[in-house]
This record gives sequence, structure tokens and C-alpha cells, in this order.
Amino acid sequence: MRTEYVTLATIQERDLRLQDIRTQLERIPEDKSLAATRLADNQASVEAAKSAGQHNEVAIKTLELDIETRRETINRLKTQQFETRKNEEFNALKHEIMRYTEDVDGLETQELELMEKADALNSVLKDATAALAKIQGAVNEEVKMLDERVTTFEAEAITLESEREAKIAETDEDLFSMYSRLLKTRGVPVLVALSDDGQCRGCHVKAISSIQARVRGEKEMVQCENCGRILYPE
Ligand SMILES: [Zn+2]
Repeated sequence: MRTEYVTLATIQERDLRLQDIRTQLERIPEDKSLAATRLADNQASVEAAKSAGQHNEVAIKTLELDIETRRETINRLKTQQFETRKNEEFNALKHEIMRYTEDVDGLETQELELMEKADALNSVLKDATAALAKIQGAVNEEVKMLDERVTTFEAEAITLESEREAKIAETDEDLFSMYSRLLKTRGVPVLVALSDDGQCRGCHVKAISSIQARVRGEKEMVQCENCGRILYPE
């Protein structure tokens, strides 16, 4: 490799790593937001389970009140039945009492069903709460790791930038300005090898033999005719 290229190659190494770091840094906010969504989904499951349990409790309380009201009515009717002397009224009250007693039986069956449902809902809530605790821990760890990664990458980028600056000072000015132009249009890598069979490692197009000869001569800067990247013999 031509000596001018050796320094350029070290700059390029930094640019490759900087590009890698920037790509990874760009992805971090999305990763954090995915983690937050995962947590929010689990929190929503817990809230839904809680709410279902509370609704069921309210339904049970309502049934209990209904049962209580009917029992009071039954007691009142029984007192009336005890006090009456009219046979017809006695039978009418008996009929009423039977109707309310059937009502109470029906409501008690419903209450029993809701109590069974309460057990099932409690178990759903327990599972959702346990899952949330687990997810919360994992998400906390992940967010912490991502934040640490940002700190590490940012510090590494600062080091790479300063190393890069130092190397630029040692590089041929024209060569570096060519490199910078290509970096903007093509991205890293800009300095690429010409393979033994004459292929540009940047665009994979085979160079014509005169270009191949000039690259292998290592006397001048030669660019790929297809992509413009600077070539050196492999
Ligand atoms: Zn090329």
C-alpha cells in the first residue's frame, strides 16, 4: 500500500467505527420505546384484571342487597300471614312468600356463580401481577444497559474523532479532500482494495486492464471508473 494510503486507512478505520456507533446510537431510542411499550402492555393487563375483579365485587354486593331486601319482604309477609284471619288473604300471602323465596334462591345461585368468577379473576390478577414484576425487572435492566451503551458509545466517538483529527493533520491535503468528498457521496469505505482478479471491492465491478495496471503500479492515485472509490492493490 502506498504510504499516503496508510494514514488514510487509519482515518477510514475510525470512520467505519464511527458509522457503526452512530447506527447503533440511532437505534437505541427505538429499543427503549419498545421496552416501554412492553411494560405498558403488562401494566394494562394488570389494570384490566383489577377492574374486572372490582366490577365483579360490585355485582356481588348488588346481589347481596337484592337478597337482603327480599328476605326483609318475606319476613314482613310472614308477619302479615300470621296476623291475618282471612283464608283468601292467607293463601295470597303464602303465594307471595313462595315467589320471593324462589327469587332469593335464584339470586343466591347467581351470587355463587359470581363468587366462583371472583376466584378465577383473582388468579388472573395474581398471574398478571407476577408477570408485570418480572417484566418490570427485565425492562429496568434493559433501559439501564441501553443508557450505559449510549455513554460508552459517546465517549468512544469523542476519542475516535480526536484520533481522526490528529491523523488528518498527517495526511496529504488533496488526498484527504478527495476522501472527504467520496465519504459524503459514497459513505465508508472510500479506500478499497482491487482484488487479484481486478474487481473493485467497493462496487464489485471489474476494472479495465489499464486501470488495474495503474493501481498495481502504485505510483499515483487511481479511482474506480465505476464508483470513484480510491483503489489499492490487494
Ligand atoms: Zn468501484
